[in-house]
Amino acid sequence: MKLTEGLYAYPWLDMMANNCNTYLLKGRLNILVDPGHSAFLDQLFQAMKDDDIVPEEIDLVINTHAHPDHSEGNSFFQQDNTLITLHEDEDRYLKGEGAQLYKLFGLEMSPFQAEFYLTEGWLELDDIYLEIYHTPGHSPGSICLYWPAKKALISGDVVFYQGVGRTDIPGADGELLKQSLDKLAQLDTELLLPGHGDLVIGKDEVRDNYALIQQYISELL
Ligand SMILES: [Zn+2]
Repeated sequence: MKLTEGLYAYPWLDMMANNCNTYLLKGRLNILVDPGHSAFLDQLFQAMKDDDIVPEEIDLVINTHAHPDHSEGNSFFQQDNTLITLHEDEDRYLKGEGAQLYKLFGLEMSPFQAEFYLTEGWLELDDIYLEIYHTPGHSPGSICLYWPAKKALISGDVVFYQGVGRTDIPGADGELLKQSLDKLAQLDTELLLPGHGDLVIGKDEVRDNYALIQQYISELL
């Protein structure tokens, strides 16, 4: 589903299944954010095909964080000529505390190797310029991607429509999540693209969403 020139969303529509929203950034390079669970890759690839892109054309997979509902599908791209990346803190978490979480979900993760790590700051991918924000709280190495040219923020499991990511799981920290939310709320965002649930579209809608969260939800963290 095309949101705007070069930016596509593949929202997860089945509330009974656990999978994440996937996003595609299309410039001279093709960047896929959060491929989701391996079991749902076929559905994702079908939806991408409708937008004239096949998985073999993906140059880079960015993980907002390493929870299996976002990153399990990395293993498909590991076999390909695609680079995979995430924040270094998340990779460390994935190999330690995060591994316990996978067991909790009854998942055997196929390991993937990040070719490079994301750090807070600019990421220049040919004609796509992104800002990376390190936004811990839901997980230690969660990142959000801000695309200034589109005023779009891919927020992973940090901020949702009328909600925030869970902080009652291993590696989570409510106080850090609050700080991350404050940082993201400063960005000039017209497209808030979360890891689960509805997209928030429109500058006023995004502002109202942060206000609601800061008023009613932050104090519970
Ligand atoms: Zn998560």
